[in-house]
Amino acid sequence: MHRMTSTQARHTRRAVLQSTVDAGARCATADPDLWFRADDESDADWQTRRTTAQRICAGCPVRAACEELALRNGDGEPDTDELIRAGYTGPELAAVRTAQAVRLAAAAEADRDTEGRQLDTLTTELHDALASNPDRKEAGQRLPSDRAQAAQNNRLRVLADQIRQIRTARRARAGWGVAA
Ligand code: SF4
Repeated sequence: MHRMTSTQARHTRRAVLQSTVDAGARCATADPDLWFRADDESDADWQTRRTTAQRICAGCPVRAACEELALRNGDGEPDTDELIRAGYTGPELAAVRTAQAVRLAAAAEADRDTEGRQLDTLTTELHDALASNPDRKEAGQRLPSDRAQAAQNNRLRVLADQIRQIRTARRARAGWGVAA
């Protein structure tokens, strides 16, 4: 039986954290604005909403994964109180990030390696799909040309979307707002 090495496990950590949060986040069924301070919102109004968000986070089953993901993503600024993640304010997240700087740098490096490999694989798959003949067999049946073409177009769209998402995330981390 193939066993995953600790290095391989580290490289899959980010995807595991994200799917854990996606599957169980309490905020997914609440008003998402609750976790963000509105423009020009008074301190008193924001504190009330912030407390409500923190109470929901306190009972969230995926809070630990959410915290680790927020730290890996670099969420929160030391002097900007404008969001809540995993029950922490922005300055609180920044303080935890500073305290765990060495561990997080290693985690971010592993995340980047993972993305790089994903990007290589997806790009190869996209090139292969572009070069392939859409008039092919599926489950032993030859598909009519229009169905085969539609299936190939859909596959190309999915691959292109996945590549775009990874590139956008990488560019955002490098300081670009959006992918060109
Ligand atoms: S801990 Fe809070 S911010 Fe994180 S997923 Fe849960 S409810 Fe959302």
